[in-house]
Amino acid sequence: MQRVRRDDHVQVISGKDRGKSGRVLAVWPREDRVLVEGLNIATKHRRVQRTRAGAQEGGIIHEEAPLHLSNVMPICDTCDKPTRVGSRVVDGVRVRICRACDAEL
Ligand SMILES: [Zn+2]
Repeated sequence: MQRVRRDDHVQVISGKDRGKSGRVLAVWPREDRVLVEGLNIATKHRRVQRTRAGAQEGGIIHEEAPLHLSNVMPICDTCDKPTRVGSRVVDGVRVRICRACDAEL
């Protein structure tokens, strides 16, 4: 079961953005990677190009880079803390639960 899903609120637990939190924009389950809004900003250098409309594009841009799944923890709505994720079957459906307070995530 996926521990982190799109639109989850997660906290980063290591690296330069340790302690910060944000919304998950995308998840790559096979690569164990997540993209979090406003976190792990990387500075990239793109070739400057002129679009057909005549606007300049490129140069030095800042954008989110994917984080490893092991470096983020979902924040539980109920107890408001970053938590480990458990799972349980409720009415035949596997749901995620907060290990700290046992609420569904
Ligand atoms: Zn909780």
